[in-house]
Amino acid sequence: MAKDCVFCKIIGGEIKSDFLYQDDKVVAFRDINPKAPTHILVIPREHIASLVDTTAKHERLLGHMANVACALAKSEKVEKGGYRLIMNAGSDSGQEVSHIHLHLLGGHKLAPLG
Ligand code: 5GP
Ligand code: ZN
Repeated sequence: MAKDCVFCKIIGGEIKSDFLYQDDKVVAFRDINPKAPTHILVIPREHIASLVDTTAKHERLLGHMANVACALAKSEKVEKGGYRLIMNAGSDSGQEVSHIHLHLLGGHKLAPLG
């Protein structure tokens, strides 16, 4: 747990958030400032500041985060219409919270990336 990390505080219960899913590796909750009708964050319990800090040893964890996000897309009923998974890494990406998180966005037509 990192002292000044907002997501570690959510995991620790210091900041209240309703978990849509949790297990021993990850938790998922709704984004406070949703950019789509469904906007969920899947985060690891382990504090990892950025994707830049991950190595081969995180392969299973990253895969698990993706699986959980896809299962949530199903339970949120956005699977049929389609959805987007995004993980920002570093300042050029606009990453604001330094604790890796996978965004699940769906529920309406998303703007093309390019
Ligand atoms: P980033 O830009 O780092 O990829 O995304 C960080 C996301 O975390 C943003 O979409 C922001 O709205 C969300 N966020 C920041 N603080 C909180 C919080 O305290 N609670 C929740 N639920 N989401 C947060
Ligand atoms: Zn953290």
